[in-house]
Amino acid sequence: MQPLLNYIGGSFVPSNSGDTIEDINPATNQRITTLPRSSSIDVDKATQAAIGAGPAWKATPIEERIKWLENIADALEAKHEEIALLETLDTGKPISLSRRVDAARSVSNFRFFAQYAKEQQPMQFEANGAINHIHRNPVGCVGLITPWNLPLYLLTWKVAPALLMGNTIVAKPSEMTPLTANLLAETLDELKLPEGVFNLVHGLGPEVGQAIVEHPNIKAISFTGGTSTGRTVAATAAPMFKKLSLELGGKNATVLLDDARIDDIVDELVRASFTNSGQVCLCGSRVLIPAKMYDEVAEKFVKGVERLKLGDPMDESTQMGAVISAEHLSKVESYINLGIEEGGIVLTGGTSVNASVSGVHAEGAFLRPTVIGGLKHTSRTATEEIFGPVVTLHPYHDEDEAVLIANGTEYGLAGSVWTSDVERGHAFAQRMDTGIVWVNTWLNRDLRTPFGGVKQSGIGREGGIWSMSFFSEMTNVCIKQP
Ligand code: NAP
Repeated sequence: MQPLLNYIGGSFVPSNSGDTIEDINPATNQRITTLPRSSSIDVDKATQAAIGAGPAWKATPIEERIKWLENIADALEAKHEEIALLETLDTGKPISLSRRVDAARSVSNFRFFAQYAKEQQPMQFEANGAINHIHRNPVGCVGLITPWNLPLYLLTWKVAPALLMGNTIVAKPSEMTPLTANLLAETLDELKLPEGVFNLVHGLGPEVGQAIVEHPNIKAISFTGGTSTGRTVAATAAPMFKKLSLELGGKNATVLLDDARIDDIVDELVRASFTNSGQVCLCGSRVLIPAKMYDEVAEKFVKGVERLKLGDPMDESTQMGAVISAEHLSKVESYINLGIEEGGIVLTGGTSVNASVSGVHAEGAFLRPTVIGGLKHTSRTATEEIFGPVVTLHPYHDEDEAVLIANGTEYGLAGSVWTSDVERGHAFAQRMDTGIVWVNTWLNRDLRTPFGGVKQSGIGREGGIWSMSFFSEMTNVCIKQP
């Protein structure tokens, strides 16, 4: 594959220094290509380009910007298979998942915001003999920083509303998964999106990401990634009074109530735990089970996990591929070892690679899906984010204890509740300190709804009107007839 380049001011260019980074396929540990190792100089060039393009893009009527979003959706849809292949190469996730989730959602992010914008009514309030008209203006040049787990899905989730609201963009994908961000830049270039409206700067987080957050002319930062990085981003951006959206880590609870029918839901519980090798911020990594049902549920859950087919991500039938990198594999394995040290019992999985992964994949970052029982719910393994294919099981005695365990981490992103009684499930859901709770379903997304976490899972919400508000500044014009 050709070396990747930055996309700045409508041109594909190397980094100012000419330095590069290797992009590695985690399923084979082989090099895919190289990408620019950019610096603050490249970020500054991208920002200048974005600022130069700002006035014309701001003046483009919203109807035309909606048309742009629709055209981008069409162009990405035509590349559905290419997106899926690149995403699987970069992340090691199964090709079926890349098609169903990554490629599909990247298109629907643009379609959704185009359609949603058409449905908006002008905001007006009448009082005291005057009418208040609320106008939305672009923020200006915005910085978008995204992680490796859902590369194009999460980038387009930010790009679509940012463009819609008239902003220009400096974006940085994870250096581990740059391929589909490059494909997006190529697509926008083919469509002839005005030069400078979208700029892409590849490189390392502490170099390029930090330079974006620090740049005085980048007025808003939309960041998705880990909580500790989010803390650094916040510490840098807050004193500059930048608009800040932080979508951070999670340690989500999957709660079975005592009327849940395990045989009907076991496959969904496994999916909620191990989709993308547990590398979805919404995955449930702690399963809370009524004590009287614990043995039965644990046995059926483990059997369900053992049915998952681990292997070559390009194989249509594979359900679990590699984790993102050899380094991440070591981190996840160290948590499994910590779990054992903390008194946990590995019920399935563990550190050894499945024997079915061999040949070109022998050097890949594969790990069997792992379930650990017997841990205190306050243990490090059960409270820190592992972000890999590791799930812990915890018995509870009554709903109050289940709430205590579910809320007993510093995170508060998502969770799920499983019950035959939806009212009971709804009531339990409202006791969970999280931004999102699903009852009898998981990762069931309506893009109009608020998405985001509480506590150390983030600040702000994305989706529908919340994304439109983040990417705009509102002016209230209060008019009284003379
Ligand atoms: P990460 O290490 O925090 O990186 C996220 C992005 O930030 C990457 O592009 C990274 O660049 C960049 N970055 C690193 N240091 C930076 C700095 N000082 N300033 C600005 N940017 C910087 O997270 P990750 O490991 O890629 O992703 C996994 C994490 O993301 C997990 O914690 C997961 O829960 C979270 N996540 C949250 C959501 C959500 O919606 N809440 C969704 C998906 C993932 P490099 O990759 O080049 O270092």
